[in-house]
Amino acid sequence: MKAPLKSIVRRTGWPTSVSRPVVTPLQPSVVYSSPDPDALDAQYADASGYTYAREGHPNAEVLAEKIDMLEGVDPASGGGIITGSGMSAIGAVFLGLLKAGDHVLGGDQLYGRSLRLMAQDLPRLGIETSLADPTDASAMEAAIRPNTRMILVEVVSNPTIRVADMEGIIAMAKARGILVVVDNTFTTPAAYLPLAAGADITVHSVTKLLAGHSDATLGYVATQDPDLRRQINDANVTWGLTPSPFDCWLAERGLHSFHLRHRAAQDNARRLADALADMPGVAKVLYPTRSDHPDHNRAVALLGGQGGNMVSFALHGGREAANLLTRAAPDIAFAPTLGDIGTTLSHPPSSSHRGLTPEGRAALGITEGFFRVSVGVEDADLLISELGAAVAAASKGA
Ligand SMILES: *Cc1c(COP(=O)(O)O)cnc(C)c1O
Repeated sequence: MKAPLKSIVRRTGWPTSVSRPVVTPLQPSVVYSSPDPDALDAQYADASGYTYAREGHPNAEVLAEKIDMLEGVDPASGGGIITGSGMSAIGAVFLGLLKAGDHVLGGDQLYGRSLRLMAQDLPRLGIETSLADPTDASAMEAAIRPNTRMILVEVVSNPTIRVADMEGIIAMAKARGILVVVDNTFTTPAAYLPLAAGADITVHSVTKLLAGHSDATLGYVATQDPDLRRQINDANVTWGLTPSPFDCWLAERGLHSFHLRHRAAQDNARRLADALADMPGVAKVLYPTRSDHPDHNRAVALLGGQGGNMVSFALHGGREAANLLTRAAPDIAFAPTLGDIGTTLSHPPSSSHRGLTPEGRAALGITEGFFRVSVGVEDADLLISELGAAVAAASKGA
């Protein structure tokens, strides 16, 4: 008999098996041991194998490869990069590619934190920024400066669901050698492929529709240009924007059902938009493929008729009607996110757009009765009846 150990701090191996797990193993190891210094040297020299989790780990790599397949990213370019959040994906692009004196042009209805980066954080680093209306490529062109290095746009704006003139913007930027970065979170690769359309960089908040279950915070960034990829990856690793293995593992599982969730949520969204438009308490409905949408033709051409899962609407009433609506729909989560498997309601005047003045919101058509619905995959009839009852309660009480 072997003498028992006083402590079992031993780095034992992993049991061998001729069969392999069907599920991707979760690998939380922060560090990897190499056989000898020569092997470690070689690993650093050609970036092969894992050394330290901030520099890369298997769960991030597996997830990146799967999103690459959806976004049409050629693995020969090095493939996509997973970051710790959607904001860190955008942060890695900015930190990796911009320097003091550069100018960045953004769409004027970017995600709230992206707008904050543009308004406060980049200027603090000596980087100029400005915003223009991306539904009008000539307005974007007029905002170009001699030092414009990059354009950041979202294809479909939040929460007003306007559709950007992507063809016009990409053509204009290409002619000037300006990088186009597309935040593809809202549209998803099911409706739009930024790199195939000629953009240089695509980014995602994986947190939203791709992972789909509101249990992992992650981002993704990809480019086909190996030099840009290296600079973005260096920023990700150096600034420590890298993801948790567990979040990557959860997101991979969520991603497997993305195409099914997307189709079901989009079918529900189309039906909900039409139902809302018929409700007496509703002043306006915004859904890209509805014929009354201001960018209907572009949505059909650019997105192949894929309207997505986001619907916005405005009640006739103001804040009081808005309060009544959320209270009357307790089973629809009133939560400032999107892309969850279940429907969530957000009220931009009290959340994403609370920083704007009432006049600023009015210019965007965001009244106190304005809601954005991230439609989920539940039974459409139930969803329509719940929201319909809430709209009726709101218009009766207000
Ligand atoms: C949520 C979101 C982000 C930020 O993503 P996080 O994962 O929350 O950091 C960026 N862009 C868009 C369009 C988003 O919806």
